[in-house]
Amino acid sequence: KQPVPCDIEISRSQKPKPIEVLGREVGLLPSEVEAYGHGKGKVSLCVLNRLRNEPSGKYVVVTGITPTPLGEGKSTTTMGLAQALSGQLHVNTFACVRQPSQGPTFGIKGGAAGGGYSQVIPMEEFNLHLTGDIHAITASNNLLAAAIDARIFHESTQTDKALFARLVPLQKGSRAFSPIQQARLKKLKIDKSDPNTLTDEEIKRFARLDIDPNSITWNRVMDTNDRFLRKITIGKAPTENGMVRETQFDIAVSSEIMAILALATSLGDMRERLARMVVATSRIGGEPVTAEDLGVSGALTVLMKEAIKPNLMQTLEGSPVFVHAGPFANIAHGNSSVLADKIALKLVGEQGFVVTEAGFGSDIGMEKFFNIKCRLSGLYPDAAVLVVTVRALKMHGGGPTVTAGQPLPEEYTKENLELVKNGCCNLNKHIEIIRLFGVPVVVAVNMFTTDTDAELNVVRELALAAGASDVVRCTHWAEGGKGGRALAEAVRQAAQQSLPAPSFLYDVQLPVEEKIRVIAQKVYGADDICLSEEARRKIELYTKQGFAGLPICMAKTHLSLSHQPELKGVPKGFVLPIRDVRASVGAGFLYPLVGTMMTMPGLPTRPCFYDIDIDVATGKIDGLF
Ligand code: ADP
Repeated sequence: KQPVPCDIEISRSQKPKPIEVLGREVGLLPSEVEAYGHGKGKVSLCVLNRLRNEPSGKYVVVTGITPTPLGEGKSTTTMGLAQALSGQLHVNTFACVRQPSQGPTFGIKGGAAGGGYSQVIPMEEFNLHLTGDIHAITASNNLLAAAIDARIFHESTQTDKALFARLVPLQKGSRAFSPIQQARLKKLKIDKSDPNTLTDEEIKRFARLDIDPNSITWNRVMDTNDRFLRKITIGKAPTENGMVRETQFDIAVSSEIMAILALATSLGDMRERLARMVVATSRIGGEPVTAEDLGVSGALTVLMKEAIKPNLMQTLEGSPVFVHAGPFANIAHGNSSVLADKIALKLVGEQGFVVTEAGFGSDIGMEKFFNIKCRLSGLYPDAAVLVVTVRALKMHGGGPTVTAGQPLPEEYTKENLELVKNGCCNLNKHIEIIRLFGVPVVVAVNMFTTDTDAELNVVRELALAAGASDVVRCTHWAEGGKGGRALAEAVRQAAQQSLPAPSFLYDVQLPVEEKIRVIAQKVYGADDICLSEEARRKIELYTKQGFAGLPICMAKTHLSLSHQPELKGVPKGFVLPIRDVRASVGAGFLYPLVGTMMTMPGLPTRPCFYDIDIDVATGKIDGLF
């Protein structure tokens, strides 16, 4: 048998069909597809309205066990399953995945287009820039960051009246409020439309946001793993009058605006969410200061108006894929957009399937898929696919550490039934987590050439005993859709069972601390949680400000069920430390930081970029995988 070529070679060997042709095939009108180059395009949100009375297809979520740092093939399986449903079983199928961040692409993990003969193509375009959505998020996020510091600066140097005169300038001899300013007046309950009639007190309330610089929670972002931006000092030029403060960069894909892109249900809804984002607290009264207070939410929405349209691409075998939004799963909510899933569900029709991927293990992306994404979208999956590899089970069973970029130790390339058996505790725990949400679980064993029959039999036996509906060997990496046929059949079977009734883990009305505890105990298996002083202070503040009723988006390592990446298998007897809590009021969740979790990753000693280059004669990119 020929060895499987590297991912980029396979991707390049297939010429994608023109995006207009794909659009027609999936039932989009020419006016609903906007080509960006040849192999990708944006899809207009109008399609949702056109198909509003059509029935939706089956909804399947793909998740995984606790992975090794190499990834266990969740994206590969998402593509393989979509290719199999579409090409082997001939049912309309859409795959919905996230856009990868440049952080991992140039850092440790590489791209996220899937791999082998199950990929999104063209993978270079998928992994780099796509249609610019992450750039739009970065621009929008940083405009808001600039607006905050500039506003504090201008407020610090001007009297109330001078500030007011600048904010509401004379036009043709008189002053008038802009629509955004009228909204602010309404919020302040100042019932006047003529700026000349405001009292001194009202002028002050209107003109001064009085932001407490120590309360600013809005950080700058960029889509690069740049550890030296984890803490920075800004405002050091003499022109800023000594207004120096410490702040930080986060990676763009963990930003609130990325989460909003993933959760918004329309352009209007996005506008409202961007407006609601809380960036700081006022000095007097401790009021939350929002993007709308800064007058910038219209401009933020303008920067995001193209990004809100899902990106249409295709698998190696020509079936449709939506690539839309890309929140990291460990430090953000880890799921592609609600809009892409909704449009795809309409396009595939009642008999069709939408396969959507939730990042990392079921404790990470999938928990947030249910408790945040499904709670908001009103969608609920018919089945879940749990991706498992023999190598990850061996790691959980006590195998030596697996390091990205390094050869696998011998335990992983030779049969070792003991390690597999011991490691199945992690698989069983993930089955249990999925069953908490009441959906059938199909275990997909993503096969590597080194897996043995005896090892695969152990996985099957133990997973069935733990409550999986089915356990399937998959060879879609090596064989494309053909190798995913058994998985597609098992998924179709599982999705025919009676529709699961939505069941979320916690009631959003529970106190914040209690909601965090439920996730820690039921999903991670912690004994309890432990809140730092800072976390307590924030919970108190957000509760006072009226944000306690939001769901929870945990920022936790994906490399262990616990907060300690080195603890494999099913860690027991630990207390989950909550270092801090942030509020993403526009996105609609509270965001506890667990342990030492960072919101800006760093680069390793030998990052992926060492292997990435371009043939300057042909323009061919090499080294992406
Ligand atoms: P995840 O989505 O779980 O992070 P990916 O699907 O991105 O994982 O796969 C990670 C890497 O592993 C990719 O480079 C892919 O080509 C490779 N890979 C996936 N499945 C297999 C397999 N069965 N055999 C060999 N390599 C695989």
